[in-house]
Amino acid sequence: ADLSHRFTFENRGAAGGKIPLGLKRKGLRIVVTGGAGFVGSHLVDRLIARGDSVIVVDNFFTGRKENVMHHFGNPRFELIRHDVVEPLLLEVDQIYHLACPASPVHYKFNPTNVVGTLNMLGLAKRVGARFLLTSTSEVYGDPLEHPQVETYWGNVNPIGVRSCYDEGKRTAETLTMDYHRGAGVEVRIARIFNTYGPRMCIDDGRVVSNFVAQALRKEPLTVYGDGKQTRSFQYVSDLVEGLMRLMEGEHVGPFNLGNPGEFTMLELAQVVQETIDPNAKIEFRPNTEDDPHKRKPDITRAKELLGWEPVIPLRKGLPLMVTDFRQRIFGDHKEGLA
Ligand code: NAD
Ligand code: UDP
Ligand code: UDP
Repeated sequence: ADLSHRFTFENRGAAGGKIPLGLKRKGLRIVVTGGAGFVGSHLVDRLIARGDSVIVVDNFFTGRKENVMHHFGNPRFELIRHDVVEPLLLEVDQIYHLACPASPVHYKFNPTNVVGTLNMLGLAKRVGARFLLTSTSEVYGDPLEHPQVETYWGNVNPIGVRSCYDEGKRTAETLTMDYHRGAGVEVRIARIFNTYGPRMCIDDGRVVSNFVAQALRKEPLTVYGDGKQTRSFQYVSDLVEGLMRLMEGEHVGPFNLGNPGEFTMLELAQVVQETIDPNAKIEFRPNTEDDPHKRKPDITRAKELLGWEPVIPLRKGLPLMVTDFRQRIFGDHKEGLA
């Protein structure tokens, strides 16, 4: 790709013009929407460590200042409280668009996925920035193909209780491709499968955070339905690596980013028992409507074109998350800094 339109933060003023990124790469100016959230804050850590200048745009809907607080005072870090549903004017080289009410408790009736994505694409178009959308495996709905390949169009109920999220992300993908084809915006699309790790919301109702918090609090693990539905769980650092490779690479995607290791919810409960408390009880609850029965990524495309695959299996990643949850639930003073 022609990178000559991108120029570095440091030398822009000094040199008074655009300097192509050559051998010696200096920091880029990067916006991370949703950067105070779970995935976003880990991404920000990596970008800052790499030497980039990062602007986090977040309305703290589910994100927390604590997740990025350790960067306060760093001149290459900036935090803006802003709802991406409102227009935003910035000058940047790359946009990682993660802002999204991501959990079932929060995503209902929210226009972020459509209006927020439109605004960030408008921003990318205006300043010539590269735009990466974090879409989701939920675009496959309750899939009729297993595992899911990127070429599968999905099986989504347009009027169900989950539709705001699924269809919102599908629309976001459509907008992204329209801006790519119609306005020449450089875009990247990631379809993220279930991801877990430190800084995950404790009470947003996702299965891994629920089970871990329940086991730590000596409450029964709540298995919805018969517990035979499957998911694939990816550790957050694997995802962040995939997102960065996608952004820097030459391919639009969409790319599945997930860990192909597939577990039933009962198996997950068992891993949580082994990791935290072998005596933790299991309690069955009715399942939510339209719950996908199976989900597992086919990551052949990401392996071949991005040279990426996850390296942290569930049994290795879960203990890292437990350490963080233990600190946050039982409150010593390291909240959010895991
Ligand atoms: P998260 O809730 O921790 O992060 C989302 C962030 O977006 C939060 O900080 C929230 O405050 C912010 N936000 C929400 N609406 C906003 C708005 N209108 N304006 C500005 N900020 C807003 O969730 P996450 O797990 O870190 O998810 C990050 C992205 O990855 C999301 O787009 C999500 O759809 C996608 N994703 C995550 C998973 C997963 O398992 N974690 C799976 C599939 C897709
Ligand atoms: N937008 C933004 N920041 C920018 C440029 C655009 O938030 O730097 C918003 C803008 O307000 C609009 C959306 O992005 O709502 C789409 O912009 P675009 O220019 O593509 O569409 P238009 O404004 O021409 O309808
Ligand atoms: N689930 C569960 N117990 C819980 C929370 C969720 O058994 O306390 C189930 C849920 O019904 C679904 C799976 O775990 O089948 C994954 O749910 P989650 O909301 O974490 O992710 P998603 O459905 O978006 O993949």
